[in-house]
Amino acid sequence: MSIDPSAVIRPFHEAEFAWEEVPCQPYKETGDALFKAISRRVLFAEPALGCELRYFEMAPGGYSTLERHEHMHAVMILRGRGGCLLGDQVRRIKPFDLVLVPPWTWHQFRATEGETLGFLCMVNATRDRPQLPTEREFAALRSDPNISAFLE
Ligand code: MN
Repeated sequence: MSIDPSAVIRPFHEAEFAWEEVPCQPYKETGDALFKAISRRVLFAEPALGCELRYFEMAPGGYSTLERHEHMHAVMILRGRGGCLLGDQVRRIKPFDLVLVPPWTWHQFRATEGETLGFLCMVNATRDRPQLPTEREFAALRSDPNISAFLE
């Protein structure tokens, strides 16, 4: 197993809120508004780890894809405040809060507080593809007033 020495220590630069040698991958926005104003940075993805640690960031008003899947997410909020949908719960989130997304649980993160929202997310390296809600599933989620307000 060989590891690129430049990937061993990569300093963080507070002014840019960015890590050296870690490219920022903005999501390509499409017309269907499944996500908005979100970027991803892959921090660790060494195959021998068996998992990946990513950093996601949403501009104020931005949100991640509403989805579910068999694999789990282990999330720590790192920056800003916002909200998250987890199953049938809508919760406010703030730095250092921990969020475990269990298998097959609808989830979405939103920068709802007029601030940039950033979080670390750990996942299995090998994982299933996310499912998006069908129209029927989306309607069922929206029938809950809390969730409907969150998704507005
Ligand atoms: Mn997910």
